[in-house]
Amino acid sequence: MSSSDGVPDLNPGAGSPPAMPPATHLDAPLVRRWIAEVDQRLQAAEARLTELDAAIGDADHGTNMTRGARAAIAALADHPEDTTAARLVAAVGHSLSRSVGGASGPLYGTWFSALGRSLPAELPATAMELATALGAALDAVQQLGAAEVGDKTMVDALSPAARQAHEVASSGADLAGMLRIAAGAAEDGAIATIPLRARRGRASYLGARSEGHQDPGATSAAILLDALRCAADA
Ligand code: ADP
Ligand code: MG
Repeated sequence: MSSSDGVPDLNPGAGSPPAMPPATHLDAPLVRRWIAEVDQRLQAAEARLTELDAAIGDADHGTNMTRGARAAIAALADHPEDTTAARLVAAVGHSLSRSVGGASGPLYGTWFSALGRSLPAELPATAMELATALGAALDAVQQLGAAEVGDKTMVDALSPAARQAHEVASSGADLAGMLRIAAGAAEDGAIATIPLRARRGRASYLGARSEGHQDPGATSAAILLDALRCAADA
């Protein structure tokens, strides 16, 4: 590019924000970008999540999740700029547990609270520390809801994401690379719920009639993880 008088433009990026390199650690600004991304994506996906829940539940998953995202954004706004990632993630957990009803409110509240408790208290988390926290958050959800992989719940997305995150972090992946693998595993896990028969939650009342539908909670879990992947890649 050159300017109109023929002088070469020596600063072609001037005026547009500088491109950020992929994140190497989960710090407080990344948590804020993550939850802003979650809020946008859940608003865009609200109708779809409600439709999925209408097929095998009570058609409230979309509104439950968007209400939760709004509450999470409000909770983060109450925290000072210099707070830690761990504190912000735990605050998201508390806000979801307080504001969202149904099964998913307490379950996602527990997931975020356990994630926040497991992250390093003061320092930004490395890929390995985040992978470990994803494992602890999954354990807490399973302790509360008693769902195993294959029961057609959010665990079908959260579990492969945590397992693959741990696997690739152990072999030296960086944070952004690890999150790409984890988000892909969550999405695959959500799609894999389609043929399953639900064995936990409201959908289990349908028995064989729950087969052939993607689980709404596994779908929202994949959205949460892809939002984190996107925020880290920014
Ligand atoms: P509700 O079922 O109370 O209406 P939502 O519609 O918001 O709550 O959430 C439904 C989702 O919650 C399901 O699609 C499923 O993924 C998840 N879920 C329900 N029960 C459990 C459980 N015991 N363990 C894990 N996830 C569960
Ligand atoms: Mg529901």
